Amino acid sequence: MITPELLRSLALFASLDDAALQAVALEAADVRLNAGEYLVQEGDSVAFFVLLEGQLDVSKEVGGVLQTLDTYGPGDSFGELPLLLGTSATVNLRAAGAVRVLQLDGPDFLALLAHSEALAATVMANMTRRVRNLQRVTLGAPVVPTLLVGSADDLRCFRLREFLSRNQVAFRWLDPESPVMACDLPPLEAGPLPAVILPGGEVLRQPDVQEVARRVGLQVEPHLPEYDVVIVGGGPAGLAAAVYGASEGLCTLLLDKEAPGGQAGTSSRIENYLGFPTGLSGAELSARALRQARRFGAEVVITREVTALEPGETGHTVVLDGGDRVQAQNVVLAMGVEWRKLPLPDAGRFVGRGLWYGAARTEAPGTRGKDVYLIGGGNSAGQAAMFFSNYAARVSILIRADRIEQGMSQYLVAQLRVRPNVRICEHCEVTALRGDAHLQGLTVHHRDTGEDEQVETDSLFVLIGADARTDWLGRTVLRDERGYVCSGLDLAPQNAWPLERDPFLLETSVPGVFVVGDVRRGSIKRVASGVGEGSMSIALIHQYLALEPGGRNA
Ligand SMILES: Cc1cc2nc3c(=O)[nH]c(=O)nc-3n(C[C@H](O)[C@H](O)[C@H](O)COP(=O)(O)OP(=O)(O)OC[C@H]3O[C@@H](n4cnc5c(N)ncnc54)[C@H](O)[C@@H]3O)c2cc1C
Repeated sequence: MITPELLRSLALFASLDDAALQAVALEAADVRLNAGEYLVQEGDSVAFFVLLEGQLDVSKEVGGVLQTLDTYGPGDSFGELPLLLGTSATVNLRAAGAVRVLQLDGPDFLALLAHSEALAATVMANMTRRVRNLQRVTLGAPVVPTLLVGSADDLRCFRLREFLSRNQVAFRWLDPESPVMACDLPPLEAGPLPAVILPGGEVLRQPDVQEVARRVGLQVEPHLPEYDVVIVGGGPAGLAAAVYGASEGLCTLLLDKEAPGGQAGTSSRIENYLGFPTGLSGAELSARALRQARRFGAEVVITREVTALEPGETGHTVVLDGGDRVQAQNVVLAMGVEWRKLPLPDAGRFVGRGLWYGAARTEAPGTRGKDVYLIGGGNSAGQAAMFFSNYAARVSILIRADRIEQGMSQYLVAQLRVRPNVRICEHCEVTALRGDAHLQGLTVHHRDTGEDEQVETDSLFVLIGADARTDWLGRTVLRDERGYVCSGLDLAPQNAWPLERDPFLLETSVPGVFVVGDVRRGSIKRVASGVGEGSMSIALIHQYLALEPGGRNA
C-alpha cells in the first residue's frame, strides 16, 4: 500500500505538504511486477510512474531493431512525456527483476503538477532529458536496416515488398532502374535480382519469402509438437482468437501462410472499428493485435500454409506445407477470403506489372502523378481510392452498377465525391488489357452507350470481391457450395453433426474444430464481427474442454 510516509521518503515528493502527500497516497496504485513482465509497451496508454523497488529496462524499436535506451532504478519517475504530449507510450518498460511501482493516473498527475511548482520543475527537467535521449537513439540508429534491390516490374520483388511491409519489417526498396532510387544503391556485385541486403551486409539473391522471414528474425516454425489451440489464419478473427486463447492460459499457435493482418492488414483506413474515432490503418490494427497476442505468449508462425486437417478421437492433426505436423486439442479455422481474379485472359501476365489485386499500401507511392484505375464498387475499393488520391494525379473507379451507392457505405461515397482527383465511372466494365512487359492500357466498355473506350494507364487495382479458399479441407468439415465452412445451426438440417450433444455456435461438423470470421458461412464480413467471433471461439473452447472427455466427441 502507498502511504504518506513512503512518499515522504522519495526525493520527488519532498516539496509536498502533508495534505498533498495524503492525496497522492489515496490516488496512487501500488503495482508489482515479476521479472520479464512489461509495465508499459510502445503504443500503450500511459500513467505517471515512480519506481519504488527494483529495476526497469527501457527499450524502443528503432528501424525495426529493439534498442536499449536506459535503465530506471528506485526513485526514478517517468510517463510524463506521453502524458504531457497527449500521446501513447514511446518506449517499452520491462521489469529486470521483482519490481514495485507507484502509478498515478493522468488527471491525478496533472492536478499534482498544478499543486507544486518544485515538483513540476523536476518533472519538466526529466522530460527534457528524456527527449534528448530519444533523439540520440532515433537519429543515431541506422535508418533502414534492410535493403531490397529489385525492379518495379519484377513480380518477385513486388511479393517481397508486400511481404516485408505486411510483416512490419523496416526496409527500404531501391529500384536500380529508377534514377532517383539508384543514387542510393550501395555497392553490389552483379548478380540476379531481387536481392535483399541484411543489416550486417549479407546479400540474399532471389530469396523466397520464407528465407527472408527466417533471416529477419520472424518465426517460421512451431516450437512445440502439441498445442491446446491451433488457429489457421492470422486475420482479425484469428488474431483475436490468439489474444484470447493465450491470455486465458491456453497454449496457442497461430499459423498464417503470408503475414498477420489478413485482408484488414491491406486496408488503408478502417473507419468503423470501435474505439478509434478517427479510424486506423489495417497495418496499425494488425501490428497492435500481433503485439498483444505475442505479449500473452501466443506463438505466431508466418509463411506456413496449412494443407490438411486430420481429425482424431482425442485431438486433431494440423498438417503444414512441407509436411510438418502439429497436434491440437482444438482448431480454429480463420482463413478468411481471398481476392477474386479478373476474368480476362491476359490478367495473370500483368499481375505485379501494373495490375494488382487489392490495394497494397506499398504501391501507393509508385502511383505518384499517375492516372490510376480501380475496379470495384465496395468499401475496399472506396478506401483504396481515397488513399491513392493522395498520390495519383487522377483515380478512376470503374463499376458495373448504375449507382455507386449500391455497394459502398454512404460516408465513403460522400468523401469520394468531394475529392477533386477522384472520378466515379458507373456502367463501366474493363474488357481487355494491353501491354508488353508491363500494363499500358485498358479497354473500358460503357454498358449504357455500348461504346468501347481505350485508356492509357499502367496502374490497375482490382477489388471485385473475394472467395473462400478452403479446397484443402476436402470433405473433412462440411462446407457450402461456395467453400464457406458451415457451423452451429447450419449442421443439423444437413445431418452433418455426429454427436448427441448440440454443436456449439461456431463449431464445425468436426467436434472441437471451430470456424470464425469471413470464412464462416453466413458471417458478417467486417473486422469487428471477425474479432467478436475469434474471441467467442475461445469461450466456446473452454466450454468444450469442460465437457467430460466422453461428451466432447461422443
Ligand atoms: C481493402 C479492404 C478494406 C476493408 N475495410 C474494412 C473496414 O473499413 N471495416 C470493416 O469492418 N471491414 C473492412 N474490411 C473487411 C475486413 O478486413 C474483413 O472482414 C476481415 O479482415 C476478415 O477477417 P478474417 O480474420 O476472417 O479473415 P482475413 O482477414 O481474410 O484473414 C485470413 C488470413 O488467413 C490466412 N490463410 C488463409 N488460408 C490459410 C491457410 N491454408 N494456411 C494458413 N493461413 C491461411 C490468410 O493469409 C490471411 O492472413 C476490409 C477488407 C479489405 C480487403
